[in-house]
Amino acid sequence: MLQRLQAQDPDVFRAIASECRRQADNLELIASENYVSEAVLEAQGSPLTNKYAEGYPGKRYYGGCEFVDIAETLAIERAKKLFGAEHANVQPHSGTQANITMYLSVLQHGDTVMGLNLAHGGHLSHGHPLNYSGKFFKIVPVNVRKDDERVDYEEAERLVAEHKPKMLFIGASNYSRVFDWERFKKMADAAGAFFATDIAHYAGLVAAGLYPSPVPLADFTTTTTHKTLRGPRGGMILCKTKHAPALDKMNFPGSQGGPLMHVIAAKAVCFGEALKPEFKRYQERVLANARRLAQALQDRGFRIVAGGTDCHLFSVDLRPKKVTGKDAEKTLDQAGITVNKNAIPYDPEKPFIASGIRIGTPAVTTRGMGEKEMDEIAELIDDALAHRADPSYLSAVRQKVRTLCGRHPIYPELMAEIGAVAA
Ligand SMILES: *Cc1c(COP(=O)(O)O)cnc(C)c1O
Repeated sequence: MLQRLQAQDPDVFRAIASECRRQADNLELIASENYVSEAVLEAQGSPLTNKYAEGYPGKRYYGGCEFVDIAETLAIERAKKLFGAEHANVQPHSGTQANITMYLSVLQHGDTVMGLNLAHGGHLSHGHPLNYSGKFFKIVPVNVRKDDERVDYEEAERLVAEHKPKMLFIGASNYSRVFDWERFKKMADAAGAFFATDIAHYAGLVAAGLYPSPVPLADFTTTTTHKTLRGPRGGMILCKTKHAPALDKMNFPGSQGGPLMHVIAAKAVCFGEALKPEFKRYQERVLANARRLAQALQDRGFRIVAGGTDCHLFSVDLRPKKVTGKDAEKTLDQAGITVNKNAIPYDPEKPFIASGIRIGTPAVTTRGMGEKEMDEIAELIDDALAHRADPSYLSAVRQKVRTLCGRHPIYPELMAEIGAVAA
């Protein structure tokens, strides 16, 4: 597959080959990452990338769209089935792009939006001051309580009554507990506000019925397709039929041009995989692994934010171990364990330092690791952090990580082709 690239452009080949090696040899614990199937890779690497298809199936602004129409229609129909949605737009290039389109389909510049505080697990597209969302809208944050680090619904109800938002937009990049969608829906109804949800992180679990679905309640549900859903990098918007015309128009021509048809074909493949019974079993293992890893770390003296997890991710408060998020991320990197530092709620450190790391199990579960391996990973993390000043100890941990990863290979044929290109 990569021989022609290697011959024509050895520099780019080397970057790709080294990245493949890195993905194979490291423990990937970044909660938003995963390994897509070879079938998804093939669809995404197909000549559909050549096709312009502005518009929607059957209503395009370019000729020659009859076959990409098949791919997009499959993606739409499968998405609707997977999530029980009335309407699906599979064209957003990313999760952030899906959110732009969703907001602008019903809101005006200056409207008030309520969403989860970014420092408490929200996403930058939910109102970060440097993001378009924070510049365009007046943002009222929903907070978590200091004591149990769960959503403060009473405060949220007071804030809704006080600020009368036009939209409640609820979702998270780092919240390990279930959201009470019904309670938020009631708040939105009381204020006459739109109820929108963002399941970018939970989508795979939602599709498998393992995390409560907001889709039946929400006007709009946005998601990425590349996190727990294990598809190509991209976004999607689900909505009620009554919002479909405005939404589709705001996606194109409102906020995007030509859709990425190769990615849309890969989304169709991903949704097809997610409709199979094996996908539910995969998500059950993701959840069981997250709970086991959180417990194993807690047993070793780490503090788990919100006391545990109901999904594929959790945050670790590192203060009991006297290490910052920044240092932990760097140390674990040296040991071949990839995580990201993350602020914990009411974090005394600046975001760039942070007191926590976020951990997720979708990727390690895809490579076949189970609860026994979660215990091993907890030990490796604890060991590495305890010896963070000792480079030779960290390379020994790295060797153990390699051995563990070697027992659970990814992309065997591709890796054989790439051979021994050094990481
Ligand atoms: C990841 C994420 C997004 C954005 O996804 P991108 O594809 O990176 O733009 C949006 N919302 C939430 C809650 C996310 O976690």
